[in-house]
Amino acid sequence: MRTGCKGCTEDVKLTMEQIARMVSKLDRFPETCAEEEVYATRLAACRACPSLQYGTTCAHCGCIVQLRAKLRDKTCPAPGGSRWVGDRLEANRIASEAQKEPRGCTPRG
Ligand code: SF4
Repeated sequence: MRTGCKGCTEDVKLTMEQIARMVSKLDRFPETCAEEEVYATRLAACRACPSLQYGTTCAHCGCIVQLRAKLRDKTCPAPGGSRWVGDRLEANRIASEAQKEPRGCTPRG
C-alpha cells in the first residue's frame, strides 16, 4: 500500500530517528523551545489523542507533534480547545499573575 503524499513521492510516515534528528536541530535554539516538563505533558496529551495519526502527525494541522510540541509558542489545534494540559496550566498561571498585578494608575490627591 502506498503511503506517500499525493503531491510528491515523500512518505508521510517518518521514523523516530528522523524525528529525533529534527528535534535535535530545534534544541540549537533553546529560546524557541518549550521547557522539558511542558514538552513532556504536551506529548503525553498527543499520545492519548484520537487525532494523532501514525503516532507522529496531528490530523488537525498536519504537524509532526514531536516538533510542534517542542516549539514554545505553538498551541494544540484541537477544535474543542487545546488538549495540552501544560498549556492550560501555563494559561492559568499567566491569568493568576495578571490578577495580582495592579491595573492602571491610582490617582493621588
Ligand atoms: S489535536 Fe492537539 S493533542 Fe491531538 S494530536 Fe493534535 S496537537 Fe496533539
